[in-house]
Amino acid sequence: MNILRKLPKIDKLVLNPVFSGLNSTRIAEIAKEKIDQLRQSILNSEITELNTDKILNDIKYSYEKLFEPSLKPLINATGVILHTNMGRSLISESLLGEASKVITNYSNLEYNQEKGCRGERYEHVSGHLKNLLHVEDVLVVNNNASAVFLILNTFSKNREAIVSRGELVEIGGSFRIPEVMSQSGAILKEIGATNKTKKADYENAICENTAMLMKVHQSNFSIEGFSEDTPYKNIKELCEENNLIDYYDLGSGYIPELPYNLGNNEPSLKTILKDKPSLISFSGDKLFGSVQAGIIAGKKELIDKLKKNQLLRMLRVDKITLSILEETIKAYLKEDYKSIPTLWLLFQSEESLFQRATKMQKVIGDSKCKVIKTKTVMGGGTLPNREFPTIALHVEGKASELERKFRKNNIIGRIENDMFLIDFRSILPEFEDQIVDTIKETIK
Ligand SMILES: *Cc1c(COP(=O)(O)O)cnc(C)c1O
Repeated sequence: MNILRKLPKIDKLVLNPVFSGLNSTRIAEIAKEKIDQLRQSILNSEITELNTDKILNDIKYSYEKLFEPSLKPLINATGVILHTNMGRSLISESLLGEASKVITNYSNLEYNQEKGCRGERYEHVSGHLKNLLHVEDVLVVNNNASAVFLILNTFSKNREAIVSRGELVEIGGSFRIPEVMSQSGAILKEIGATNKTKKADYENAICENTAMLMKVHQSNFSIEGFSEDTPYKNIKELCEENNLIDYYDLGSGYIPELPYNLGNNEPSLKTILKDKPSLISFSGDKLFGSVQAGIIAGKKELIDKLKKNQLLRMLRVDKITLSILEETIKAYLKEDYKSIPTLWLLFQSEESLFQRATKMQKVIGDSKCKVIKTKTVMGGGTLPNREFPTIALHVEGKASELERKFRKNNIIGRIENDMFLIDFRSILPEFEDQIVDTIKETIK
């Protein structure tokens, strides 16, 4: 039992030079836990000797572990630009730099500087968004899921919202339209069939208790073949005739024309807003390419009602969101799409991707990798089943092994036909050197 007395005293141990510069409160906490463990092991006769250096090193190791980042940057070499698991949209450093002036200072977030009184947090982006979208009014909430919830809760609580059976989708992360509707208090009235819903289906379903006709973007799937859905224009007409609200949950919304004819079955915000919908909502961080947010646009009278719902307080956005969103919208107004990385990546021509990939191939060596033409998808529940061209570097070797090795080096590639690919569609040029280093390391 003598050995117990040899256990280091925590107050002394903390002062050891190996811990200099480290936080002594955390060191003391870790040391106490370690010493308690050792005492127990001694009592259980599991150890008979103490190694002070080892104790010190163990404590230091635990301390360092504590500060290893949990959230960390990764290189997305999957080719999927809006990768949900990797944070969807990127924010450019230039936009973040502008926004950081507000984030790191006091601001007029809810202060009307002209009048010297309380101001409105939602006004900062609504002005710019009205200019961009040409709508009566705009409201921004936490994400599009909150937008859907707030709209249904405000206008369709205990009243019917009519939705096509082809649009009762699950978005992923357990966001299912029917469940969200019931949680919001809205009564879902399903109409039509999975593949076909006609104007008459909506018309026949309208009753005394109907509040709105809702259209939901199918997001991550599409129905091909014998199918038909009702154009929004017709839904809107029915709503006008019957004094109902029309609401379109777009999921994603985009401003400039998309390349590769991606906009064919997927109208832009401008086109959708031509029909003057009463309300639409879309994500800030899908094709719009900004921060996580839910953007609601439409009639002022309806947005005013949304603002009066107590739920808004729970769904409200922070100054971090608002300031980054404001910068993104300003970039849109200037048509400065370079500052919106999601769009920049999407707009990269095959030719420029090919040049970048070829350059990398030259640096690494022709025998170790090949440039290939292939296809990718946008991801994030947008542009379902729409493939478009991309260029990738096929790194020679066992695909699953390479995938794992690159993953450990913070580069997430993709496997296609047993080939490990580094897809340039989702890679920003500033990360190419890091990729080259990893390839060289991995296939020595
Ligand atoms: C993505 C999506 C949502 C959810 O949007 P978040 O911004 O992820 O909350 C809701 N509805 C549709 C149709 C979507 O595609």
